[in-house]
Amino acid sequence: MRFLPLLTLVFALHVPAFGMGSKPAGRMASDAHTQIQVAGDLTESEQRLLLDDFAYLEQQNIEDNSAINALFHLDHTSASGMLSWLAERMQFIVANQKDSPSSRTESSVVMSNLGASLYFRAKQANSPGSFQVANGPLLSVNSPRVGIIEAGSGLFRGPFANENVNTSAPSSRIYRLGTIFHEARHSDGNGISLAFFHEKCPAGHIYENQAACDHNLNGPYTIGGNTILAMEKSCQNCSEQEREILRLSALDSFSRIIRDSVETMQADECSYVNTISSNELVPPIISEKCRANSRQTSPVSESPSVFWDEKPESLNHS
Ligand SMILES: [Zn+2]
Repeated sequence: MRFLPLLTLVFALHVPAFGMGSKPAGRMASDAHTQIQVAGDLTESEQRLLLDDFAYLEQQNIEDNSAINALFHLDHTSASGMLSWLAERMQFIVANQKDSPSSRTESSVVMSNLGASLYFRAKQANSPGSFQVANGPLLSVNSPRVGIIEAGSGLFRGPFANENVNTSAPSSRIYRLGTIFHEARHSDGNGISLAFFHEKCPAGHIYENQAACDHNLNGPYTIGGNTILAMEKSCQNCSEQEREILRLSALDSFSRIIRDSVETMQADECSYVNTISSNELVPPIISEKCRANSRQTSPVSESPSVFWDEKPESLNHS
């Protein structure tokens, strides 16, 4: 889940109840290329905006980008390759069930991967759940790849509300698409990597103790930040100010990727210590610690962040 404002964004996955409130539902619409469907409980203008976001990306010439290629398993970066990746992880965008125009506050929901949360709950119950898309199908929830993403009012306001930038401007579209790519990553994973849940940020981090960080190198913040940067570089009509806001948004994402644990730093310190011939150069306290570690029978605990397994798990109930 993601809340406004931009620089205090908090992402988290929550586990909602299965029972959903009902809203008057309109017709469902879908994107011609990705087949991603926008549910009838979004307003017509919200539906239009999202479908036009996909159409916008389809038309972009995205510069070759090694980070995107590695994350999306592409030989060459392309909008169609990025959208295909998205379509595997996102089937329906529905309205946030608790969000309403009257509750549009600074902490409005931006987006949330409802399907992953529902799957997590189904797994706990060891029984597939189901979700009724407004004016759409009844979905069986037996994998995080069920691909139900909630859009809240915060998504449509975006980071440019105070900058006089229209919601249909390319920069607004890039911001929304980056958020959509972030959420799509929550449709992946198995076991400990299930749904790429966010974890607590470490002490000293701006989001200290909030579940707003990734302890891996290919999670939602990595996906979101890199897609925003790739689209920003290719944007033909973004002003310098809009570019800067997009880059700040990407930096905010990157700041949430935790690359080294304390244990890793200790291990690095010790390997450094071991390369020094004279212990006189090493502060006594570090030297003592490294000697203590070397006496342990097991290796020094080390947990650098790594790529997590993205293969989605499933409940095999007939
Ligand atoms: Zn997230």
